[in-house]
Amino acid sequence: MTASATIASTGFDGFGLDKALIRGIRALGFETPRTIQFETIPAGLEGRDVLGLAQTGTGKTAAFALPLLDRLLEERRKGPRALVLAPTRELASQIEAEIAALSKFTSLKRVTIYGGVSMHNQIRALRQGPEIVVGCPGRVLDLLQQRRLHLDQIETLVLDEADHMFDMGFLPDIRKILAALPERRQNLLFSATMPREIRKLADDLLTDPYVVELENLAPVGTIDHALILIPEKRKRALLEHVLSRDDCETAIVFTRTKHRARRLAEQLEKAGHRAVALQGNMSQAQRDRAMRGFRQRRFDILVATDIAARGIDVSGISHVINFDVPDTPEAYNHRIGRTGRGEDEGEAWTFVTNHDRGWVRATESMIGQPIPRRQVEGFEPDFEVKSERSRPPRGNPRGTGGGGRQRNGRRNAGNSGNSRNSAGRGRKRRRSG
Ligand code: AMP
Repeated sequence: MTASATIASTGFDGFGLDKALIRGIRALGFETPRTIQFETIPAGLEGRDVLGLAQTGTGKTAAFALPLLDRLLEERRKGPRALVLAPTRELASQIEAEIAALSKFTSLKRVTIYGGVSMHNQIRALRQGPEIVVGCPGRVLDLLQQRRLHLDQIETLVLDEADHMFDMGFLPDIRKILAALPERRQNLLFSATMPREIRKLADDLLTDPYVVELENLAPVGTIDHALILIPEKRKRALLEHVLSRDDCETAIVFTRTKHRARRLAEQLEKAGHRAVALQGNMSQAQRDRAMRGFRQRRFDILVATDIAARGIDVSGISHVINFDVPDTPEAYNHRIGRTGRGEDEGEAWTFVTNHDRGWVRATESMIGQPIPRRQVEGFEPDFEVKSERSRPPRGNPRGTGGGGRQRNGRRNAGNSGNSRNSAGRGRKRRRSG
């Protein structure tokens, strides 16, 4: 039997993880490791550097957290011994929550460090000598420079959503943080895309990395996605129509700007929907309240901007609606990946005006398949947006039967120079996951 077949038949038991972690995994209800976990956990346990090309929703948090926790349990010492950097407070909180759940039956301590809230509690928590620090680069660097945080004992560094850290201008801070870490350590880097700067960072940071690449060019198999052509001035009426349908239980609506998110949430609320905004002009307390309300289903609709919504992991979202198309084709996959998580099915609808033709072309070209057009009765378009190419979709997209949501191909270890686009053209070996 191959190693992965053994693990498949024994679930998480086959990895040889600490028993306390296995209890945590059971308590979370995880039965079978996800593809990225199959691949990353053994390499992580061996102490290898890992480059994971995967987006949020694939199970990557447990993929890096489990080997990290196992190592901390092997030999107890004062911390901080593991540093996890994430681009947003929301993602940092989610990572912390998952680490807390996985290590529930251990006495490992954690602290979460991000800006927008008082430093006081973070400093107090650091005094307790937590083994694990999860944080955003800005505040981590602040505390480091104030000598409140010491990173000279770090054994494992995780950079999560590295491409977003770059988008948000965090690379200079990250480089300063790296300079404060001991030379000998394990590095795990996760990114959904590999822009040039991240490739460079990976090359500088990683030594002979084990590379795991989950194919993330085409939208995940459980998402039914479509474009709806609509003039700008009819978007709101169409949105209300879609939100009022019986099958629309919970939705994230994406807008281009913070101002549009705020205004649209207000308008929806006035129209009788339970809607709340999540945008960058809100204070941390307001954002937390919005997210909590959405998670607890006090709101059915979250109207969000891209940055604010980064890393949101709420299960059971039935619809993602792109009220405005995202800035980049890459952001499309990130947005629509908020639905169809796990085994759930989800729908992702993008409102497209006749000014969005360039975006449609670029996005279809990136994902390598036309996005189906859909018409809604009473909202028939009076214009057309043609697909640049109408070649048959690659792989086995939804609706053609078979195919799980994770289709992955692994590259040779050590070759970190790859980009989403080049991967899109020269497809590598693929197996269904
Ligand atoms: P992530 O990509 O880490 O944000 O994970 C997405 C979601 O999948 C989270 O809610 C995890 O708790 C969940 N998850 C991760 N691994 C598993 C697993 N093996 N089985 C079931 N759920 C999982």
